[in-house]
Amino acid sequence: MADLVTHALTAVLVRGRRRVDAVTLWLVTGVILPDLLSRAPFVSLRLIQDMGFFASLSLDDDRLHLGLNLPHTPAGIFLVSVLISVVLPQWLATPLPRLHLASWITLGGLLHLAVDLLQLHLVDGYFLLYPFSVRPFEFGLVRSDGSVLALPVLLAVCALVVAPWLKATLKRADKV
Ligand SMILES: [Zn+2]
Repeated sequence: MADLVTHALTAVLVRGRRRVDAVTLWLVTGVILPDLLSRAPFVSLRLIQDMGFFASLSLDDDRLHLGLNLPHTPAGIFLVSVLISVVLPQWLATPLPRLHLASWITLGGLLHLAVDLLQLHLVDGYFLLYPFSVRPFEFGLVRSDGSVLALPVLLAVCALVVAPWLKATLKRADKV
């Protein structure tokens, strides 16, 4: 699991020199959702159990494990994207049509998985074909803390990419 800042920066890189707009915001949303919806509940449940609550729930239980991992699978990402695009109030979805909204969130989630797949984990990899298969997969090219080491480089590259429109925006703000 790469950190959320690294994931968000990959979305900025994918958008390139385009100005920040609704597409960028929904792509970044899609890129951080898999960890927010799967890892955060897992860590929260562990903390709650450390405080003595829900002791009967085993975090090693396969069903609970798979349930918490669902938003971190392609199928789960697609379901979450469709759900968000359907229940989101129109004023939040505007100016994107709901189909585009779901597509950008899904692409963000898949970008998240692509980055995560590069990592080598001490435990199982990712269930890409869930619910049809629970066979874990990963490329295992970098250690799971490798994203933190790459963060300064990624930040510098992103700064170079967004610098032109950021300068133009600041110049326009000065004129107003
Ligand atoms: Zn992840």
